[in-house]
Amino acid sequence: MQENNTPKKRVILTGDRPTGRLHVGHYVGSLKERVRLQNSGEFDEIYIMIADAQALTDNAEHPEKVRGNIMQVALDYLSCGIDPAKSCIFIQSMVPELTELTFYYMNLVTVSRVQRNPTVKAEIQMRNFEASIPVGFFCYPISQAADITAFHATAVPVGEDQLPMLEQCTEIVRKFNSVYGETLTEPGIILPKNRACLRLPGIDGKAKMSKSLGNCIYLSDTPEEVKTKVMSMFTDPTHLRREDPGHTEGNPVFIYLDAFARDEHFAEFLPEYENLEALKEHYRRGGLGDVKVKKFLCDVMQAELAPIRERRAYWESRPEEVYEILKAGSARAEATAAETLREVRRAMKIDYFENGNLLKN
Ligand code: ATP
Ligand code: MG
Repeated sequence: MQENNTPKKRVILTGDRPTGRLHVGHYVGSLKERVRLQNSGEFDEIYIMIADAQALTDNAEHPEKVRGNIMQVALDYLSCGIDPAKSCIFIQSMVPELTELTFYYMNLVTVSRVQRNPTVKAEIQMRNFEASIPVGFFCYPISQAADITAFHATAVPVGEDQLPMLEQCTEIVRKFNSVYGETLTEPGIILPKNRACLRLPGIDGKAKMSKSLGNCIYLSDTPEEVKTKVMSMFTDPTHLRREDPGHTEGNPVFIYLDAFARDEHFAEFLPEYENLEALKEHYRRGGLGDVKVKKFLCDVMQAELAPIRERRAYWESRPEEVYEILKAGSARAEATAAETLREVRRAMKIDYFENGNLLKN
């Protein structure tokens, strides 16, 4: 527990499911912000979790898929600039304290409350689980609350789809503290400031780029793959000929430009336009073809992805080092979570063998 006169530590906890390599939606929605926060020096501790136990809740029959993606996600982190000297990267299942916390928090949440969670609802629908939801999957918001509170996280940088999870976590914290006494820390959410980054759509125009939907541009895609994907992207279906006026609102190509393009990119790749507003204006007026816009988007994305690719090549040739980073990070994370679990057990009066407490009352 925090002493009143000591300033509260600023702690970040965030993570990703190892269900596939990470994509540009993760990058703009969360990864980029994590790297910025990591390098801002404003945080005392940063934990980045590869959520394999959570991935198993809807992939129980495919443990090889989850295992195979752990190194991939770690490589994606390192290539985006997550620095193991500043951020603790760990694997969720290697910290069993998180499972124990989940079990205790389950008593503080009702089934109907989880059923009302909009992200759970949407994900159940997306996976066609309606009649056969695995109990573990159903409980994953509770397990996420355990992950966040185990580290006394004060800030959680994530995409918009995680907002209901943070709300649910806050309710659990309040309930726990009111029943057992002030123990857990309420987290804050950090969402991307750029609206286009809150939920980047898929290249197929679906509302969210998601590993499970196969509509992604991966951070590890080759330049050729990125080009093919960008050139095949959905645009405005009413913009049939170049002369036709087009829509930029809801047009995936322009949403990507909102997320990625900066004024410098225009100077470098498309100097006839000053900025994105000028390009959009021409598209709306008519006379600007999709191919030209897509080519520009492709240049912008290649420029953003090039340094990431370069760092990936560096780490890919050092798998043992990546392994050691994950192993050391998991041990460090476990030590922190174990301390929180001790506090939780004390608060819940299930600390029987600590100082012979069971004999005392
Ligand atoms: P899955 O389909 O397995 O759920 P996912 O692509 O949704 O995978 P997650 O591992 O669930 O990825 O999400 C990790 C983080 O990335 C979360 O903080 C989430 O909000 C963010 N994120 C995922 N997809 C997007 C997206 N398209 N736009 C913005 N942020 C995203
Ligand atoms: Mg997801």
